Amino acid sequence: MNTKVIAGNWKMNNLQADTTATLTQLIPLVADATATVIVCVPYTNLATALQVVKGTNVHVGAQNCHWAEKGAFTGEIAPSMLKEMGVEYVIVGHSERRTYFGETNQTVLARTKAALNAGLKPIVCIGETLEQRNGGTMEQVLTEQIQQGFAEITAEQMANVIVAYEPVWAIGTGVTATNEQANDAIAFCRSVFESMYGSDTAASLCIQYGGSMNDKNAKELLSMPHIDGGLVGGASLVAEKFATIVNAIK
Ligand code: PEP
Repeated sequence: MNTKVIAGNWKMNNLQADTTATLTQLIPLVADATATVIVCVPYTNLATALQVVKGTNVHVGAQNCHWAEKGAFTGEIAPSMLKEMGVEYVIVGHSERRTYFGETNQTVLARTKAALNAGLKPIVCIGETLEQRNGGTMEQVLTEQIQQGFAEITAEQMANVIVAYEPVWAIGTGVTATNEQANDAIAFCRSVFESMYGSDTAASLCIQYGGSMNDKNAKELLSMPHIDGGLVGGASLVAEKFATIVNAIK
């Protein structure tokens, strides 16, 4: 069985004091976790988060990185800048970035490659819209996101990649995919990875579910055979709720 990974995505929330308070509360609550615990915070909170989690089992991630090593990209952050700070993980291709910031499968690939080259572990997000699911193109969309978004990633590099299947209609909406919908979609994604990388790599790949996962529904979702963890938005802002999700894995 893969080690399960629960990652919180704070999005554009929390100032320094909130960061310290939330993580200070979270740390003892997840100290005995069997899952890997990651908290992805805004860039401005990374230093504080890294300081607070030092010596604990809580890991810190960023929410995006650029594909270039350096250069004239005003406002962007290079993967090496994150790595230098001690950041271990980075979310790439979140649906909010695809929707609001023009992210494509090609830019997702470029960012993922850059993150891996810098020694970061990317959490790469994929997922269909409701229109695509209802219109019968879900499998095509997921296949394209995987085939294009991972086109130049090697099987060896996949050992450092986490994938988050996040149906867009379930993100921040309070509508969760049913256990079966989430499991089936992840099983499908795994089959696409298998066709690219073979069965061993596909079987050991960590594929999380994300989309309104919370302290009430996490246990059932996380007990499904293909769901290797969760990417958690709203519920990760509240330490007790996020800890309940993490500890649902024990
Ligand atoms: C997310 O931001 O990746 C997410 C899944 O958000 P939420 O849990 O709030 O739906």
